[in-house]
Amino acid sequence: MSSVVCPICSSSFEANLSVSMPFCSERCRQIDLGRWFEEDYSLPLEDRLDGGEEQEIQ
Ligand SMILES: [Zn+2]
Repeated sequence: MSSVVCPICSSSFEANLSVSMPFCSERCRQIDLGRWFEEDYSLPLEDRLDGGEEQEIQ
């Protein structure tokens, strides 16, 4: 067994249990993909996870 830390949500998981390596889940994989497109598309999922890193400009 090898334990891995998800680069998206920072949770530990067993590498052999994940179908979305190096991420813990398909959801985190999608979030990572979304980061490359965030200039064009806004993803509510990412906003919830990052919570405050980006702020709305008034
Ligand atoms: Zn994750």
